[in-house]
Amino acid sequence: MHAAGGTYREAMPSAHPPVLNPAQQRVLDQLGASGDGDRPAASEDLGPRLRADLEAGLAPLLAELGPDEDLTVSKHLLAQVHGCEGKLLAEDADHEFVVSVPIARGTIAHKAIELGIHWRGEAAPLDLVDEALARLTSSESWLADWLQTCSESDRAELRASAGDRVSKFVECFPPLLPKWRPVTESRLLVDLLGGRVRLNGKVDLTIGAARGRQAGKVIIDLKTGSPSPAHRDDLRFYALLEAVRIGVPPRLIASYYLDAGEARSEPVTEPLLDATVARTIDGARRVVDLRNGTVAPTLRPSYACRWCIALPTCEVGRRHLRVADVDAVDDLEVV
Ligand code: SF4
Repeated sequence: MHAAGGTYREAMPSAHPPVLNPAQQRVLDQLGASGDGDRPAASEDLGPRLRADLEAGLAPLLAELGPDEDLTVSKHLLAQVHGCEGKLLAEDADHEFVVSVPIARGTIAHKAIELGIHWRGEAAPLDLVDEALARLTSSESWLADWLQTCSESDRAELRASAGDRVSKFVECFPPLLPKWRPVTESRLLVDLLGGRVRLNGKVDLTIGAARGRQAGKVIIDLKTGSPSPAHRDDLRFYALLEAVRIGVPPRLIASYYLDAGEARSEPVTEPLLDATVARTIDGARRVVDLRNGTVAPTLRPSYACRWCIALPTCEVGRRHLRVADVDAVDDLEVV
């Protein structure tokens, strides 16, 4: 991989390059750049133009916000509003954020992967997870309180599921050379319109960096489960934030599916960024209108109805599940 301009051989001239298994080699083949042809140069005005387009589209929203109200737009909010708007409003009304093992798992695993990058010698995945648990338990992290008070069984389940994620990552990814500038849980922020609107994202893993105006970074989201078009939209949003933030977009965006050991990647082009600007503006407008109650929510029933907190009172969702999945509704009737 030439993510940051160094091969294994260049980075470790006195050592034998590690022997890669086929899955690791596939990652190199899929995500590595083969030459300057894979590193398009961004035009000088790309970042400022994207920012100006976003601000022009979002500016009318300021009149709809309260005087002290700001709007934060994340990939999660955009996925919500472009999914079922009834679900978005139900989750808005349910203010309580409850940490659970599935929510905590990603943060622990990413911390463990980050420690693994800088660890001297080889570390077992569960040792990295234990160290990550210890560090985050005594940190200022949003997770610290939960980690300090969760039950022993939750902690054991968290350790096991984060360990599974880290093991699969170590198995499938070539060892990440510090020279490639790997960064985990990288926060991306873009403040627009004097800070009244903030675009906010956190990327699981980035490798590489731009060289001048030449794209070089690869943005990677680590996923369990099956591919979904929503994952691609999430990554496009990150690519937009990166392009506005530093003026050069990432070279490639990729979802890496740990269970399947395969990546789905996409090069970042200007039309892709323009489409993402439009999706971001549409989504933000719709969020403000829904929250102000000036439009009625459009219900879009899907597989996600299964986990929707509005399901007990949502006839549309119940009907959908009745047709698509009898068991889920049968369970609900019993409850
Ligand atoms: S149950 Fe389904 S249709 Fe109803 S609000 Fe939830 S996601 Fe939307």
